[in-house]
Amino acid sequence: SVALKKNREEVYRLAYTDTNTGLPNQNMLMETLDVYIGRDEKQEQELALIYILLNGFDDICASYGCFAGNLMLVETAKRILSRECPSCKAYYYNGPGFILLVDMKNACRTVQETIESILEDLSKPMDIQGNYHRIGANCGIAFYPKNGSDFNTLLMQAITALFWAKRSGEGTYASFNQSMSEELVKKTQIRNYLRKALENQEFFLEYQPQIDGSTKEITGFEALIRWNSPEMGVMQPNLFIAIAEKTGLIISIGDWVLAQACQDMRKINEQNHTSFTVAVNVSVVQILNDTYVSRVLNTLSKERFPLNQLELEVTETLFMDHDSRAITRMNQLHDHGIRIALDDFGTGYSSLSTINDLKLNTIKIDKSLIRRSDVQELTTMMIHMGHMMRLGIVAEGVETEAEMKELEEAGCDRLQGFLFSKPIPFEKVGPFIQKYNETRF
Ligand code: C2E
Ligand code: CA
Ligand code: CA
Repeated sequence: SVALKKNREEVYRLAYTDTNTGLPNQNMLMETLDVYIGRDEKQEQELALIYILLNGFDDICASYGCFAGNLMLVETAKRILSRECPSCKAYYYNGPGFILLVDMKNACRTVQETIESILEDLSKPMDIQGNYHRIGANCGIAFYPKNGSDFNTLLMQAITALFWAKRSGEGTYASFNQSMSEELVKKTQIRNYLRKALENQEFFLEYQPQIDGSTKEITGFEALIRWNSPEMGVMQPNLFIAIAEKTGLIISIGDWVLAQACQDMRKINEQNHTSFTVAVNVSVVQILNDTYVSRVLNTLSKERFPLNQLELEVTETLFMDHDSRAITRMNQLHDHGIRIALDDFGTGYSSLSTINDLKLNTIKIDKSLIRRSDVQELTTMMIHMGHMMRLGIVAEGVETEAEMKELEEAGCDRLQGFLFSKPIPFEKVGPFIQKYNETRF
């Protein structure tokens, strides 16, 4: 009967449609994909599965409620649908996720063109209940049959590509390739092996000299951590510090770095009759640990290292948390006589005036700035301002004599970089000091 038919159509509609956006849902997507993939293999059907992930969906839900979130999905669906064509079908997938299936053989545009137009549409502000929100999105792409031959594999790879793209900012996209998942595997490996690295004594420190800008004498050394992993070889900090921060392992690793650096530098100073400073990098995760201040002070007294010869290097992430505890704690250490340096200056958002709350001794100008053509103008200005605030200026990443000359003329207090020395292991520091003092700049 007519009623029964209507009923069946309604059931069908509910099963295959996302009721909020009106787009076909995951059930429909999987069946469609099965049809494509199940086709005669000789036809060499080529498909692109594009995963689109909205940014800021959770924030909207948290601040304005689920209803606003749903409206946001409806508006997104509308924008994506406006780019649909017979060979390019949109589906609602899950949460803030949408999927496009593109039949590559019959496509009216390239996958790239489709994605770029959609990302542009989604970067435009959305009017949600009278409030304008700029949300934006990222895309990841996997191809059938190149990247996989079932829905789950293709989806996983598209998601991997998406998160890979997302690291270079909003509105970006990437197609899956094998090295992306290898990188993911490597990250998991690093996380696992990192847990036992400290107790197995797999970390060691290297030291890079800092040179007085005018006299060219050595003033001290920065300690830089390395990890000699039996499974993966010697690892540079950029590969594992972020993971150590996420897992909290940085807290105990950081304690070890500080103790080792003080112990090493005390020996160096005793053997060479010097009073060099040692600079130690500190992550904000360490500082936010509640006993940080007392642990630092205990370590220094245990290693019998003078407080005013330790310089702790922090970055602008200290100001990003809107959490004043970290700043208060660094100020406490400063009041005890420990020197505080702001690392990587010029890469973040802060200017000399926004960092007023932090009691600083030193600013380290990032090496990316040293490489700029207007380095002299820039550093002269920074050095001028820094000196007015009674701050010492260190330039890192000095590689050429020309750079050294320019920085010297600009009045830079300390210089650090490959021109003087690469970071060297503890055993080589003594011989370096002797050789440097003979030849010297
Ligand atoms: P950073 O504090 O900015 O350290 C300077 C980096 O620049 C070091 O890389 C150093 O080897 C490199 N470098 C020095 N001179 C030159 C030069 O002339 N040219 C160029 N191109 N590079 C130069 P490294 O040792 O790979 O350290 C990377 C980052 O890892 C450090 O950046 C620091 O943020 C972090 N890090 C290192 N050790 C520790 C640690 O013990 N604790 C924490 N939390 N982070 C650390
Ligand atoms: Ca540093
Ligand atoms: Ca730096």
